[in-house]
Amino acid sequence: MTIPASRPTGAPALYLEQFTIPDHIRASWHTWEAAAWRRMRWGDTNRLHPPDQRFTIDPPDEMCPRHLRMWTSWRDRTFDYRTGRRWPGHPGTPFVIIHDLADALEDRRIEWDEKTSEQMQLTEQICLSGRSPQCDHPTALDSPPATHNQER
Ligand SMILES: [Zn+2]
Repeated sequence: MTIPASRPTGAPALYLEQFTIPDHIRASWHTWEAAAWRRMRWGDTNRLHPPDQRFTIDPPDEMCPRHLRMWTSWRDRTFDYRTGRRWPGHPGTPFVIIHDLADALEDRRIEWDEKTSEQMQLTEQICLSGRSPQCDHPTALDSPPATHNQER
């Protein structure tokens, strides 16, 4: 096995210790495109339940502070194995027959990963469109808040 000379992005030499990583994916390892590629490779191994991908994503540098906070709060909404709650608003019935509790919990965890990922990407699109009235672009000329209680 040869180790690539440059690994600037934190990508492993081989994904899941068997898949060669294409250069364009390696170069954008912390993007949604690379996350989709990782999910597909996971599927190629015939294993269920790919790991959460949203914590592998870097937010775009151009996002404003307010949208970045929204993006982060979506990312941090994780599935709770203790309650096992489905994603809010899921049109399910409470009378689901669960054959395998561990499997069902993993399915729900993946549902949370997918739904929060959608919201994160939506937040990026809204902010980067440049047309959102919610955007919060502080100007560099803003003066820091005055402090009145400093010791002299
Ligand atoms: Zn914004």
